[in-house]
Amino acid sequence: MRGRNIWFKGSIVPVEQANISVLSPTAQFGLNVFEGIRCYASGGNGQVFAFRIKEHFTRLLDSCKLMGMSFPYKTSDMRDYLIQTIRANDYHEDVSVRLTLFIDDEGSWSSEGPVEMFIAPLTKPRINVEAPPALSACISTWERINDNCFPPRVKAGANYINSRYAHLEAKRNGYDCPIFLGRNGKVTEGAGACLFMVRRGVLTTPGITSSILESITRSTVITLASGLGLQVLEREIDRTELYLAEELFLCGTAAELTPITSVDRVPVGCGRPGPVTMSLLRRYLDVVSNQVACYSEWLVPIY
Ligand code: PMP
Repeated sequence: MRGRNIWFKGSIVPVEQANISVLSPTAQFGLNVFEGIRCYASGGNGQVFAFRIKEHFTRLLDSCKLMGMSFPYKTSDMRDYLIQTIRANDYHEDVSVRLTLFIDDEGSWSSEGPVEMFIAPLTKPRINVEAPPALSACISTWERINDNCFPPRVKAGANYINSRYAHLEAKRNGYDCPIFLGRNGKVTEGAGACLFMVRRGVLTTPGITSSILESITRSTVITLASGLGLQVLEREIDRTELYLAEELFLCGTAAELTPITSVDRVPVGCGRPGPVTMSLLRRYLDVVSNQVACYSEWLVPIY
């Protein structure tokens, strides 16, 4: 395996040399915020494009503000660091990047600094549209965190403890993934991805105040769907609507668009990835790899 270089506290080093104290607030209390960013190979000439990094940096700033962490860099510098890190690994294939701001040193859960950063890229191929995944989902018995205790809008490492409970329960019970309901009993999102349903022909997703992460892929899907002439609705979704939906899919930077073909063992539609999901997935993969000129402002070239 090729050695892996990561950006760590101001320099690019082999991953083995990127170490933090076991007493740091990030290690002890999960005091970190992060972004998962995808970069996609394009055109077969070694070029790779980072997707929607401006939006990722904006959300990272929001996460810092809500967590009481200072944001130590200019976003233009962060873009340069990200590019340098991928180049340092000579990656010319699809890449997934973890960019994390964390509280270092030996403070407590109330420490506001010092804030440090690492940028860790890893190769990760895109979904194969010819053989898309087809997930079995369950409604979790765990409730989604909400804005009055653990805001899902903050992309903090600690928020994933809630996702972990639901994910492990789903796996124990023989499902691929959970879907969370919120405090009000309405559908929220998956453990690490947002949710769309097609019901009576309308693409529908919970709104951004329904205990979800403000997902960048969710906003991309809404834009792409409108561009394809599809009606999109943001509204509350009941659990039983998931059993009656024609199509369901998760979306996220990592999930891209992943079809769900059953919920609580009830088949979704005909039990296979549906036509709306597949046409949006194809469109999404075309857009991220710079095949659709009108969305090229979302892409930043690495080379
Ligand atoms: N919800 C949760 C809980 C997530 O962890 C993610 C992954 N970041 C998403 C939604 C999707 O967000 P995005 O499209 O910005 O990756």
